[in-house]
Amino acid sequence: MFPYLKLSKEEVEARIAATTPDDVAAALAKDRPGFFDLLALISPAAAGFLPRMRERAAEARRRYYGRTVSVYAPLYIGNTCVNSCRYCDFRIQHQGTARKDLSPDEIRAEAEAVRATGVDSLLVVAGENPRVNSPEHLAEVGRLLKPMFSYLALEVAPQSEETYRLLFEAGFEGLTCFQETYDQERYKYFHPAGPKSDYDWRLRTQWRAGRAGFRTLGVAFLLGLCPWRPEAASLAAHAIWLQRECWRSKVQFAFPRFCPTEGGFQPEHPVSDEDLELMMLAFRIVFPTCCMTVSTREAPAFRDRIVQTAADNMSAGSRVTPGGYAVLADHDVAQFTLTDKRPPAEVYAAIRAGGQEVVFKNWDNRI
Ligand code: SF4
Repeated sequence: MFPYLKLSKEEVEARIAATTPDDVAAALAKDRPGFFDLLALISPAAAGFLPRMRERAAEARRRYYGRTVSVYAPLYIGNTCVNSCRYCDFRIQHQGTARKDLSPDEIRAEAEAVRATGVDSLLVVAGENPRVNSPEHLAEVGRLLKPMFSYLALEVAPQSEETYRLLFEAGFEGLTCFQETYDQERYKYFHPAGPKSDYDWRLRTQWRAGRAGFRTLGVAFLLGLCPWRPEAASLAAHAIWLQRECWRSKVQFAFPRFCPTEGGFQPEHPVSDEDLELMMLAFRIVFPTCCMTVSTREAPAFRDRIVQTAADNMSAGSRVTPGGYAVLADHDVAQFTLTDKRPPAEVYAAIRAGGQEVVFKNWDNRI
């Protein structure tokens, strides 16, 4: 569990299991529901309240985000990695996957291909390879891409606060770091070696970035590794802690569901569409102002529906391999299998057909 939460996994599970329909109704009736209301809203008892939860979440979403959906795209700059995550084909021991770290010219070509789709927010992704993705190299990438995009975010190895200051100066403003699982024992099992085996260093990543000035701090666990309800409770506790500690930054939720990989890892605790929707609605209701993203891991129908009620942000036309947009063309060796393979124009059309506006840029830095 999230270590600063003063409840054990068993206590959280017992509370969730004991939730009655009256508790769910009471949570939904509150103006400002809190952590314990979130436990009620993710309980099995909440399943009977789905229509009411959709209404309530959509209302909260509309109040803070209007009828808009922000779009972004990931840009994988490299997939070499020194870690050993058992579920990932980019792990150091996995031989089957082609490895590539893009040169500055290739990064520029990829970025131009993304920019041509209209996308103005970019998430730079890389495996953990300190020899290639040094702080200086990442800063160089930031300086290269900043003139091309209004918003740059990073999903790379956790860095020190000092490095985050350097990266913020170079143009990065957002950070995403999945904790993968908040269960310390299972974390050890899934990350047996490499720098990622340090649970605490990873857990405080967003905190260090927030102190360095990053404006958006992305939190998530990987859905499928462990039972989702205690993980969701930990995610909520992590977000509450970050909101208190890094009050100048915005917390962003993602709910990445494990997708099939070439290596064939099978998650022990798959999450159904119904449970994923329930969880996203619950988080929108309890955290109405926080950003929430839905990635191309999910099917088009699910994505188009969830941006009406919970998510305010989605990826479009993603390629999850280094060089996937322009450099490698069809030779796509991906980290996982994408489910929504629609080109960006179709994603924009679907957003508009749902009565919402596509937002490429939603703020300007005047300081
Ligand atoms: S999940 Fe990330 S850190 Fe782990 S092996 Fe894959 S790329 Fe490396």
